[in-house]
Amino acid sequence: MKRGIIFEEQDVNEDSTARAEFSRRGLQGVPAFLIGDQVVVGFDRQKIESLLDYSIVGCNECNARMRVPKNKGNIIVTCPKCRNKFKMST
Ligand SMILES: [Zn+2]
Repeated sequence: MKRGIIFEEQDVNEDSTARAEFSRRGLQGVPAFLIGDQVVVGFDRQKIESLLDYSIVGCNECNARMRVPKNKGNIIVTCPKCRNKFKMST
C-alpha cells in the first residue's frame, strides 16, 4: 500500500496466533485487515482508507476507546461513553 502505512502481515495458514485471532472474530474470508478495533474483510480499499484517516485514542477518564480524525489540528473530543471532553492535537 502507498501512504507509508506500517502494517503487519500475518499468514493465517502459517501463524496459529493469527488464526486464533481470526476465528475469535468469526472471520472466514481473507484477506482481512484489522485497523484499530475495526475489521475489514476483503480488500475494500475505500473502507480501509477511511479507517486509516482515524486513529484510536483512549478516554482519559473512563478509558473508552474511540476513533478521532487525523490531521485536523487541535480538536476537542467528546467521549461517547462518559461525555468527558478533552483537547488533543491530531
Ligand atoms: Zn470517557
